[in-house]
Amino acid sequence: MRIFLDPGHGGRDPGACHKQLKEKDLTLAIALRIRDQLTQHKDIMIKLSRHVDETCSLSDRVLLAERFKADFYLSIHINAGGGTGFESYRYLNTSKKTGDYHQFIHQTICQSLDVTDRGMKKGDFYVLRKTSMPAVLTESLFIDHPLDYVALFKSSMVEKIVAAHVKAIISVKNTLLKPNSIVCGSFKNIILANKRQAELSQHGFDVDIIKANVNGAPFYRVIVYDDGVTPNVEARLNALGYNSFKTS
Ligand SMILES: [Zn+2]
Repeated sequence: MRIFLDPGHGGRDPGACHKQLKEKDLTLAIALRIRDQLTQHKDIMIKLSRHVDETCSLSDRVLLAERFKADFYLSIHINAGGGTGFESYRYLNTSKKTGDYHQFIHQTICQSLDVTDRGMKKGDFYVLRKTSMPAVLTESLFIDHPLDYVALFKSSMVEKIVAAHVKAIISVKNTLLKPNSIVCGSFKNIILANKRQAELSQHGFDVDIIKANVNGAPFYRVIVYDDGVTPNVEARLNALGYNSFKTS
């Protein structure tokens, strides 16, 4: 899965400012930390719109994401102008897919942050309008709200925002982005399914177990994800002697 992370503003555009804090610094710090946290996930490729405090036009951001062939565009912002809590946006008219991504991202982040839920919103933002892939923009806390300002000053809150976004991205990957789920074993016994999962994980595959029911009897399917990034997932499974088949 290819994720394009877009730390809002930068360079000549500081975004919202309040006392000693600038939105552009917070969004960059958050995006860099999200990238660091996701590097351990071999099936996620990350590209950032900027890595330093530099001016980056909105059209350049979109162009970079398109060239990267991102599966998902996530723009990171801090709110201002009266209020507190978390809100997020997608474009006015979007596909159902984008709506699903938005709902997932919003709910996961809101639950993790444990702040006021200001809701899922629609907005006519350039990066949401011009991107061809699903795109969501998050606004975490208000830089000019007294309590949010104090919170944003603390690295613990920045880390909390990072962790919430990381969790949301991983949830999206595991739940919504399954271009090819390959079934590699079905077991009545969960212990055997766990054993298979451990074996495959050791080989570097991205594995999950999905519980299913057939005529009222539970069984456990071991699923390997073909993320479109790692080459030849199915061929590698077969080379290791596993029988597998693709699901739609
Ligand atoms: Zn902003």
